[in-house]
Amino acid sequence: MPATVLIVEDEPAIQELLALTVRQAGHQPRLADSAEQALGLLREALPDLLLLDWMLPGQSGVELARRLRADRRTRELPIIMLTARADEHDKLAGLETGADDYVTKPFSPRELNARIKAVLRRRAPEATDDVVDLGGLRLDPASHRVHAGAAEVPLGPTEFRLLHYLMTHPERVHSRVQLLDQIWGDHVFVEERTVDVHIRRLRKALEPSGLDGHVQTVRGSGYRFSATA
Ligand code: CA
Repeated sequence: MPATVLIVEDEPAIQELLALTVRQAGHQPRLADSAEQALGLLREALPDLLLLDWMLPGQSGVELARRLRADRRTRELPIIMLTARADEHDKLAGLETGADDYVTKPFSPRELNARIKAVLRRRAPEATDDVVDLGGLRLDPASHRVHAGAAEVPLGPTEFRLLHYLMTHPERVHSRVQLLDQIWGDHVFVEERTVDVHIRRLRKALEPSGLDGHVQTVRGSGYRFSATA
């Protein structure tokens, strides 16, 4: 699944170049030219990553980053700050804005995409195209295929996303609410038992390979993917 990258940059030419760069890496850009506009877009849906310019008209990028870190809903959002000069870069490093990385303009598209990839790998592995090989299952996000040994496991799109998320965050218990936020989106109204329905479908698809036991119910808490089952 392509990662959604929200770009907050007020200079149209740079915004366009950023969007092009992000698109070339296979991600989906969303655009805002101020912190206020970005907040509006963030209220609608959370992106996988935020590319945030330091100098913005009105509220600065630094202020926005701080505000997002203080809010429970956006606290975990991966942020890469863009700075125009090396000294801003130094200043930022000392500011504790909570940004995951900093890139100085003018940026090299290759460098920027490498940074995006590194931050996504660390903070949102389910938003990368990395193949996940775990517990006898091999999930390839690029081809949207799952194999158990040589046999392909046929999965619907929701079961695929669910398995991808669980496999990139293994051995951890995820509540139904967390899974709804991650897989359906945090502003989509879906009943919690919808998660149970898709977990059941996922297990059924894994049954022929005998690997359905990896998808575990943790009574009273939620679900977990365990590679050692
Ligand atoms: Ca700017």
